[in-house]
Amino acid sequence: MSRIAYVAGRYVPHRQAAVHIEDRGYQFADGVYEVISVVGGHLVDEEPHLARLHRSLAELRIPLPMEDAALKIVIREVVRRNGVDTGIVYLQVTRGVAPREHAFPKAAKPALVVTSRRSRAPDPRLGRDGIAVITIPDIRWQRCDIKSVALVANVLGKQQAREAGAYEAWQIDRDGKVTEGTSTNAWIVTHDDIVVTRAPDTAILSGVTRLAIFDIIRREGYRLDERMFSVAEAKAAREAFLTSTTADLLPVVRIDGAPVGEGTPGPLSQKLRAAYFAHAASPA
Ligand code: PMP
Repeated sequence: MSRIAYVAGRYVPHRQAAVHIEDRGYQFADGVYEVISVVGGHLVDEEPHLARLHRSLAELRIPLPMEDAALKIVIREVVRRNGVDTGIVYLQVTRGVAPREHAFPKAAKPALVVTSRRSRAPDPRLGRDGIAVITIPDIRWQRCDIKSVALVANVLGKQQAREAGAYEAWQIDRDGKVTEGTSTNAWIVTHDDIVVTRAPDTAILSGVTRLAIFDIIRREGYRLDERMFSVAEAKAAREAFLTSTTADLLPVVRIDGAPVGEGTPGPLSQKLRAAYFAHAASPA
């Protein structure tokens, strides 16, 4: 089945799908995006993803490209036309096409792109054996709560992780506290079994997976503390893990080369991971 993308109001073959060179996303990274998982043909946590899209757009004062009812139809149509049973949907909205000038254009219409692709199940070894992270200074802007397409600092950080043989880079703020990964939220489990993750300030993206994990923690009666933690605390923690739409929940077993806990996935991380899979697999 050939891939189809939704761009400029039409469904077109993926290879021919293109935006104008004066799209403000291309020239200024003046846009936002969302990634939603498709599991067994249904969209995982669609509502919180759309709510976050609304928030990101509102913060950047970009109008909605269409109402949610229409957007949901486009999303489903792109998933259907690509024959995606398990994979992802990518949505991007930019401020639109206009002659290059920093200030908002008067006449531009927001430009929506929707793509979808099948994905293989993530390598089961990552969940079974856990992954390594490195730590790097957080060099991003001060509105990381907005899911902006301006991701160059995240790109550099992820590449640094890859070159160090790690899965992710945890970014560290000026006070030595962990903000988040380059495309994932960061978590630790303390020696008294409290799950800790940073509160949603402007230094992190409030992950939709993070919110789903909160629900699981509450339901299962685990203890949660939304607060900052330092690199030293993470290294000395009993367990650590990360979450995102595409990574699900992965145990972190090494930070900057040093083992976390026993250096193997912790029991609480594994329980939360299993519960998250059950959540993702159940139709909303
Ligand atoms: N932080 C950043 C910087 C991200 O890019 C992502 C993934 N989009 C996340 C956290 C996790 O968010 P979510 O669980 O909604 O995928």
